[in-house]
Amino acid sequence: MLIYLHFLDRDGVLNKEVGYLSNPNDFVFLEGSIEALKILKQKDYLLIVITNQAAVARGFLTVETLQVIHNKMVKILKENKISLDDIYYCPHHPEFTGPCDCRKPNPGMILKAKLKFNIDIRNSYMIGDTLSDIETGKNARCKTVLVLTGYGKKEIKKESSIIPDMIFKNLKEFAINI
Ligand SMILES: [Mg+2]
Ligand SMILES: [Zn+2]
Repeated sequence: MLIYLHFLDRDGVLNKEVGYLSNPNDFVFLEGSIEALKILKQKDYLLIVITNQAAVARGFLTVETLQVIHNKMVKILKENKISLDDIYYCPHHPEFTGPCDCRKPNPGMILKAKLKFNIDIRNSYMIGDTLSDIETGKNARCKTVLVLTGYGKKEIKKESSIIPDMIFKNLKEFAINI
C-alpha cells in the first residue's frame, strides 16, 4: 500500500513565526492549525513535520530545548487526539556547520522520510509559508502548497521562478479543500 502524506513546515504553518524560536513559551499554535491537522488525519494522511532549525547551529538554541519545544507541540496535539507521524529538523547552517543535505530547500528530510515510510512522493504535498519550502517540495518532486500565514503573504509578492502548485489562506483552508 502506498501512503500519501503531507510534509509540513513548522514555523508559520503550524505555529506563530517569531524568528528563531528558542523559548518553549513562544511556541503558540496558529488559529485553526490544530483543527487543520485533525481534518488531515481524518482524511488518512500521514503528517510529517520538516523544519530548519538553524538557531541550533547559530548557538541560540540547544537540541535539548528544541526537544522541549517539540514535546510541547506533541503534548498539545495529543490533548486534541492528534499524533504526528514524524518530526525531522535540520540543526545546521552552512556558515556555521558547513553544507548539509537536510537544510531546506535541499530535499534531505523528505528523502529520509521516504526511506522510512512507503511514500508515494508524487502524490504527497509539501506545505510551507516560504518559497524555500516550495523549492524543497519541487526538489523532492512533491506537490507544493504555499500558505499565506507566517511569511506567506510577503513571500508571494517576491518575483521568483518558484511557483507553488496551490496557494491557500492557511492550513485549515488547505485541509478542508484537499
Ligand atoms: Mg516557515
Ligand atoms: Zn542539515
